[in-house]
This record gives sequence, structure tokens and C-alpha cells, in this order.
Amino acid sequence: MKYELSYWEKQSFFEPIDVAVIGSGIVGLAAAIHLKEKNPKLRVVVFERGPMPAGASTRNAGFACFGSMTELIDDLSHTPEDTVLATVEKRWNGLQRLRALIGDENMEFRQWGGYEMFTENDTDIFTECAERMPEFNEKIGRITGHREVYKMADERIASFGFRDVRHLIINQPEGQVNTGKMMTALLGKARAAGVEIFNGIGIRSLEDGSNGVLMETENDWTIRAGRVLVAVNGFARKLFPDLDLYPARNQVLITKPVPGLKVEGCFHYDKGYYYFRNIDGRILLGGGRNLDFETEKTLEFGSNPLIRSALAKLLHEVICPGQAVEIDHWWTGILGLGPVKKPIIQRASPNVVVSVRLSGMGVAIGTLVGQEGAELIQ
Ligand SMILES: Cc1cc2nc3c(=O)[nH]c(=O)nc-3n(C[C@H](O)[C@H](O)[C@H](O)COP(=O)(O)OP(=O)(O)OC[C@H]3O[C@@H](n4cnc5c(N)ncnc54)[C@H](O)[C@@H]3O)c2cc1C
Repeated sequence: MKYELSYWEKQSFFEPIDVAVIGSGIVGLAAAIHLKEKNPKLRVVVFERGPMPAGASTRNAGFACFGSMTELIDDLSHTPEDTVLATVEKRWNGLQRLRALIGDENMEFRQWGGYEMFTENDTDIFTECAERMPEFNEKIGRITGHREVYKMADERIASFGFRDVRHLIINQPEGQVNTGKMMTALLGKARAAGVEIFNGIGIRSLEDGSNGVLMETENDWTIRAGRVLVAVNGFARKLFPDLDLYPARNQVLITKPVPGLKVEGCFHYDKGYYYFRNIDGRILLGGGRNLDFETEKTLEFGSNPLIRSALAKLLHEVICPGQAVEIDHWWTGILGLGPVKKPIIQRASPNVVVSVRLSGMGVAIGTLVGQEGAELIQ
């Protein structure tokens, strides 16, 4: 049965909207806060399809990372160096903006370092990393201000308790956040700034005209806004089919608390396709999309048994070998990827801007991408 808006609902809740933001992930919220800070008189309304942010921002691993060596080497194999370094700089600066916006303690920011893990199958790439470490320390050091960003850390393998791991390289300034606390703080900041947030309203289509933008909702309402910022990341092609972007689902598990857990920090494995960290005495582990790329190009949340069994094997055999570690819970999240690791921040029509394609770097660049989108739409 169709639920029509009453005259009162339409008038009081949805008229007049100066700027509508679609999506309440890190990008949408950062954009909305920025718009209100710049002009407190603007009426900024966020429309979120989920009962809470329901894409990647509340479902990620919370790595405050800006580039591990194998990831950068892989990027450099198909992208010019200037572009790769510009993205690292954006990630580094974005992290500083996120920390300034939220405050380290409000999101439990911890700079425990990020490690890359190499097994006996990774000898070639490890050798390349070892040889190129001075070059990377020089180039990434210039961006971060750290003299020795990357460093060998083999001596920690035994203390972490890993099996079959031959080498570790630490990225010393890498950090981690508590994703839930980060998003709760952002929502709180948005509300405190006067941003209105409506959950359970998905936008099906947009029509930009001389009187602003008409938004058709998934429950058949029509809502008008002066301008619209689209921050739906992996879901963007539903609104703009021509955008150069595709969704990528990621599988994640969390264990029950592990007595005497020795792992501390963020860990990347296999060019970042696998990642794990400690949180609350547990291991959070995710990734494995490279085992089944095509199936995981989906907007559907849901399990992939092939990938889940590979993650469970990695957990039991390599990360916590010989320990009675129980998996507590699984979930998935949806990323927005493209041919290059560069966000799309552009005007789609005179009154509509899109800020999407965060490429798995949203903790680092989400605030910046939101703010840049806001600058374009304000
Ligand atoms: C499992 C996983 C692990 C990750 N780990 C990390 C990490 O450790 N570090 C890191 O930097 N990044 C990580 N990422 C990536 C990071 O989470 C994302 O880059 C970032 O959250 C993207 O933010 P966003 O606001 O652009 O998109 P989202 O958080 O996806 O927000 C988009 C919002 O739009 C809503 N929406 C979609 N369509 C509509 C519509 N039509 N109408 C209304 N609302 C709509 C969705 O419900 C969603 O809430 C990870 C991602 C995943 C999935």
C-alpha cells in the first residue's frame, strides 16, 4: 500500500531543502557537516536508505592506512608515479582532517603501525620491497614527514605467534580506528551542526531542472531540493549508469575474544587483498575478493562460501595457529572501485555533484572527499 505524504509532512519535513545529501556514510556526513560549518543558515538534509549508514562506512576494518609497499608497487605497475603519490598525499592529508574533525579519542585512534606479511610464496615481491625500501622511505617520507616510514620487522613474527610467515615490513605511522565509534561521532557532529538525517529513504532517481532537483524516492515520494550531493559510493551506478565505477563486496569475520592474543596492529597480506587487526581482544579479518572477483561485483550483502572458508583457513593456520579460536560473527560491506584508485568528485548536472569511488580508502580520504564535494555544491 502506498504511503502518501500528507500536506503537513511534505511542508514541515521536506520544504524547502537547500542541499540534499544522498547517503550517510563518511563522505555524506563529512560533506553535510562542512556545508553547515560554511553556512549555518543552509538547510542540509541527508537521505539514507538504510536504518543506519549501510554501505561500507559502518562495516569496514578501520585501518587508517595510506599505502603499504606491495600496494604501491602494484599501483605503480599500471598508474603513473605522480598519480600514485598524489593519492598517498590525499590519504595522508585526509587522515589528518579526520583526526581534527573527530578527535583521536572519540574514535580510539591508535598508531600501532601497519604490517605487511610475506610467506614463502612471496619471495619475489618481498625482495623487491627490500630493495626499494630506501626509495619509498624517501618519497613517502616527503609526504608524511616521517624519516623511516617502512622498516623490516621480522623480529616480531614470533611474538605475534604467526605460522609460515617469513617476513614482516612495518609502516610505522599507520593507525587504526574503532569504526563504530568513528561513525557514531560523525553522526553526532552532523546532528549538532544542525544537519537533518532521514533514514529509510532511498532515492531512486534525480531530475535536475530550472527549479532545483526533483528526487523520486523508492517509496514513490517526490522531494525537491535546491542542490544535491550524491555520496552513495558503490551504489552510484543505480543513479548514474555511465559512471566508471563498480561495486565490490568484501567478506569480514570477527572472532570471539582470544585469551592472551598477541597480535597488535593492522596487517595486510597479498597486496592488501587480505587484512586483519586486533580489536577488543579479538581478531577482525576480511578480504579474499581476489578468489572470486566476478561474484563479488555485487550490490547484494551476503555470504560467499569459497571466500569464507579461505579466510577461516588463514585465521586458524597462519594467524592463530594451534589456538582454540572461535569465529563469532560474519558480515559483508560494499566498496566502490574503478580502473584507477582515484575518487570521482564532479558535477553531474548544474545542481548535482557526485563524490564517490572511494576505492577501499574511505577511512583515510572520506572526510576530504566529502569536503571537496561540499565545496563544489555549496
Ligand atoms: C569490508 C570493508 C572493509 C574496509 N576496510 C577499510 C579500511 O580498513 N580502511 C579504509 O580506509 N577503508 C576501508 N574500506 C572502505 C571504506 O569503508 C569506504 O571507502 C568508505 O566507507 C566509503 O564511504 P562512503 O561514504 O563513500 O560510502 P558508504 O559508506 O558506502 O555510504 C554510502 C551510503 O549511501 C547509502 N545509499 C546508497 N544508495 C542510496 C540511495 N539510492 N538513496 C539513499 N541512500 C543510499 C548506503 O546505504 C550507504 O549508507 C572498507 C570497506 C569494506 C566494505
